[in-house]
Amino acid sequence: MRASRLTIATLREDPAEAEVASHRLLLRAGFLHKSGAGLYLYGPMMHRVLDRIQRIVAEEISRPNGAIAAQQITMPILQEQALWEKSGRWATYQASRTMLSVKDRKDQIFGLAPTAEEVVTDYAAAVLKSYTQLPACFFQQHTKFRDEIRPRFGLMRVKEFIMMDAYSFHADEASLDATYQAMRDAYHRTFRRMGLEAFAVEADSGAIGGSGSHEFMVAAAIGEDTILFQPETGYAANRERAVGRIAPAPAWNAPSTATLVHTPSVGAILEVMAFLNVNGYPDVRAEHALKCVLFVARSLTATVQVAAFVRGDREIHEVKLINAITRALGDRGPVLDLRPMQPDEVRAATSAEPGFAGPGTGLTVDLAFIDRQLPADQPLIAGANRTDHHLVGFRLDRDVVIRNARGGSVTPIVDDLLAIREGDADVASGKPLSERRGIEVGHVFKLGTKYSAAMQANYMGQDGKLHPYIMGCYGIGSSRVAAAAVEQHHDADGIRWPMAIAPYQVVIVPAGKPGDPAVGAASQDLHDRLESAGIDVILDDRDLKPGVKFKDWDLIGIPLRIVIGKGLANGLVELKPRTGAMAEIPVGEAAERTIAAVRAALV
Ligand code: ATP
Ligand code: MG
Repeated sequence: MRASRLTIATLREDPAEAEVASHRLLLRAGFLHKSGAGLYLYGPMMHRVLDRIQRIVAEEISRPNGAIAAQQITMPILQEQALWEKSGRWATYQASRTMLSVKDRKDQIFGLAPTAEEVVTDYAAAVLKSYTQLPACFFQQHTKFRDEIRPRFGLMRVKEFIMMDAYSFHADEASLDATYQAMRDAYHRTFRRMGLEAFAVEADSGAIGGSGSHEFMVAAAIGEDTILFQPETGYAANRERAVGRIAPAPAWNAPSTATLVHTPSVGAILEVMAFLNVNGYPDVRAEHALKCVLFVARSLTATVQVAAFVRGDREIHEVKLINAITRALGDRGPVLDLRPMQPDEVRAATSAEPGFAGPGTGLTVDLAFIDRQLPADQPLIAGANRTDHHLVGFRLDRDVVIRNARGGSVTPIVDDLLAIREGDADVASGKPLSERRGIEVGHVFKLGTKYSAAMQANYMGQDGKLHPYIMGCYGIGSSRVAAAAVEQHHDADGIRWPMAIAPYQVVIVPAGKPGDPAVGAASQDLHDRLESAGIDVILDDRDLKPGVKFKDWDLIGIPLRIVIGKGLANGLVELKPRTGAMAEIPVGEAAERTIAAVRAALV
């Protein structure tokens, strides 16, 4: 390919709006064009990168004799409301505003695919009639739409993106387990081939649902997810899901019954402790406090007032709380929205100013949740539901009195609410957990019969009876993968594409005296040899100074550069990997050595 035939759209300056490296570099190197707010056109170079990513993914999951043997299909992006109503997700996706929708001329409403469980389950019911056809797995690589609350970071979080989504159908759990494991293995191979350091972590299943799930993360400082891991045991989980043990609070000199103490003008836990320390309780600490946070949770059919309790030195994780409330609501769930109470609502629920809520007399909520690591039989400091007052020596197994608005008694539910953090102990080994940030590039879910049962999608079993499919689903955000690759592979000069997903693998830059016929001929010859060996090579024939060309290719991130110039008189050319040092090599060996270097970089 001649560079003069390529639209090279590099910018001199960094685009002002880009906060992260991948966004900045993909715009600046001309891979992306901003077509509207949060809308990106994929330029020719981007298209090639995405094509490579999609090809690798497809290869790994669709090997004909492989464990998965996924078959590629294409589903419509416009999805009928009626199908989504069968699974019960239409209303929840509309209410959470995740799904964008459009109306046709007859006023029929369609959702724009945020994911495709309903559509594929409907397809399965039509084509997978008998157990003899199972397991089966279908995948597509197609555009998805999600009305994200906070689109940002370029391709990282957009309203329109490309996803590989796969769905598997099974007659039994063992078969699902086997495919789930094979998918995880395929993801590992996929990301390794792409030159990405990615790792699997236990994950929350979110709106997709199901019984188990893992996310694949690419480590990056700008990642929106926090991962807790234990390097020796291999435990790794998204914070939304991570479990860990917190060190128990030391014993303290507490009164034997819950004692009302006037704590004037101190609300924040540390202030309360400091006050108590000089007013009769010298050894009490934040670990002895009961932190009470009041929320309003909303589902499709219910709005509930919620009190949640964790240890005073720790925080509640909202995703865990949402899951706990959803479990408690049962048929009235899932929770679509959770927000802290406004000061007025706190006053109504506690008859006190904000800062003095506690699980003793005077708290009025619909549901209460206690973090499972709070000791029930140890004395604590709790808000007294009375302005400027706390209860000292409060015990959860003795002193809880919570009422709902109708005066009924509310029994608190013990659940996992705690935001785990670095230094907490791994449950299995007791060793400390570490923390790192990651970008979620892929996700695998065990769905079980969640969709098939709701949609009455059945196959005929060996027993002659109808059974709902046991299902799995699997996603890789192809366009986010490209951005994550740039986050992991760039420097001050630009992108450093891993060979397997680079838009082109090699660029030849003639750099001798302008018009030098020997340089021209050697460049063309090398180009042709590489091209016929199947290498994606560019010959930079543009009428520009070599320095300008070098800058362009460094920014665009082509893995190998060959400069043919002065040295040619001595039979030498320069071979420079984007990530390494330049070597002078004999022109006669240039093709062979370049081909070897490309192949060596393709794992
Ligand atoms: P996130 O937690 O980042 O919002 P998700 O868990 O909602 O993502 P999934 O439903 O698991 O996403 O979708 C599968 C994959 O699609 C994700 O692992 C991610 O790579 C990609 N993806 C999801 N949302 C977006 C988005 N808004 N922009 C780009 N890629 C996305
Ligand atoms: Mg996910």
